[in-house]
Amino acid sequence: MRVYVILPAAGLGTRMAAGHLSSAAPKQFLELAGVPVLIHTLRAFAEVPRVSGIYIAVRPNEMDRLTAQVLDYGYADKVQFVAGGDTRQESVANALNAIDCDADDIILVHDAVRPLIDAATIERTIRAVEKHDAAIVGLPAVDTIKQVERTADGAIITSTIPREYIVQAQTPQGFRCHLLKRAFAEAAADEFVGTDEASLVERAGGQVAVVPGSPANFKITQPGDLELAEFYLQRQPAHH
Ligand code: C5P
Repeated sequence: MRVYVILPAAGLGTRMAAGHLSSAAPKQFLELAGVPVLIHTLRAFAEVPRVSGIYIAVRPNEMDRLTAQVLDYGYADKVQFVAGGDTRQESVANALNAIDCDADDIILVHDAVRPLIDAATIERTIRAVEKHDAAIVGLPAVDTIKQVERTADGAIITSTIPREYIVQAQTPQGFRCHLLKRAFAEAAADEFVGTDEASLVERAGGQVAVVPGSPANFKITQPGDLELAEFYLQRQPAHH
């Protein structure tokens, strides 16, 4: 049984570029403590011995820059690039099509823009997939969660969802290869587009387990997030 990793890294980063940062570089290429965000992410997975291959979905015009970076940091032998698509789901689908996996192999999908993922959480996710066939990292909700209706006047609360029923989905999200491929095929046939892989597997009838995540494993999205990530990095030197 092999473990493959897909890192979707083909986002535009428009929210970040629109903020105070003058750089128009997509967020996954911004630097964190002097190292590109994508390289931090890549390093975390490359350090897990059971990972046999990493597929990175990138925008074609960024392929050269990325290839050079991955070579520079010494990860070229583990990495393959595929072209990203217009949505995250399309980017992951392109990578999935490039992986020649056996039914029982495990595929982990992880947002390139979550650079603070650690090896222990990756290994816990792999073990949970071995046991349940599908597992994601999720962060228990600490805030009270409201369901709302959007009106022209703003949001109006329609109900309160008890927070013990809520986890916030993070990544990695891991699945047996046959299950993930079937879920993607069914989503494509139904023209369903989800914001994570678990939602595709759920609608395909799969049961998805949750392993505990950490606030540090957040998605670099908006200006200020890089500073926050650097703060976490300084507190967790052992992982990086
Ligand atoms: O869009 P979002 O912030 O959810 O992005 C999560 C991850 O998906 C990022 O690493 C981003 O680069 C990637 N992505 C992608 N292809 C897209 C859109 C997002 O690979 N078309």
